[in-house]
Amino acid sequence: MKNPKKLIIITGPSGVGKGTVVKNILKKDKNIWISISATTRKPREGEEHGKDYYFLTKEKFKEMISNEMFLEWAEFAGNYYGTPIDIINEKIQNGYKVILEIEVEGACQVREKLSNIISIFLLPPNKKELEKRIRDRGTDDEKSILQRLERADFEISSSKDFDYVLKNYEIDKTVDEIFKIIS
Ligand code: 5GP
Repeated sequence: MKNPKKLIIITGPSGVGKGTVVKNILKKDKNIWISISATTRKPREGEEHGKDYYFLTKEKFKEMISNEMFLEWAEFAGNYYGTPIDIINEKIQNGYKVILEIEVEGACQVREKLSNIISIFLLPPNKKELEKRIRDRGTDDEKSILQRLERADFEISSSKDFDYVLKNYEIDKTVDEIFKIIS
């Protein structure tokens, strides 16, 4: 991949606020493009194919794995998630900085493949607050909430492997810190 320094990973446990942070970054800088992932998870209310995710069947996702169409992919809380590689190359060649908002295992894969990138890990203020954020958004059933919280322990223990670790207390402050890092 050309110009990998234009690739920024934002990772951290589910519920930490990655999605909100990324949306706020996008509002402030039109030269940033947020990668649209593929997933086998069912769409939540209001989510659109091609905008929030590419919602795929397991068969289609596996076919894309076989055809090496992902920069990274991982299984998370019972579903597959992956970053389609083609469009990322195209956006970087067109001068965009590209942000991947992905879970920790996939983020580690990208770090192993590409050296000249920026990786940022978002931590919750504490585990209780993380649980509150997941429950308050009201998007996941109990099984999925528990899977996400269980996974969070492993994910948080990996935070030291990333270039920057930020505690996400307040969205605006976190967004400012990320801009300082990436500009
Ligand atoms: P959700 O189901 O809440 O949308 O996403 C679950 C987790 O998958 C989140 O931590 C999210 O950042 C992560 N995720 C979204 N897209 C990708 C992707 O393309 N690859 C990987 N590895 N994780 C992703």
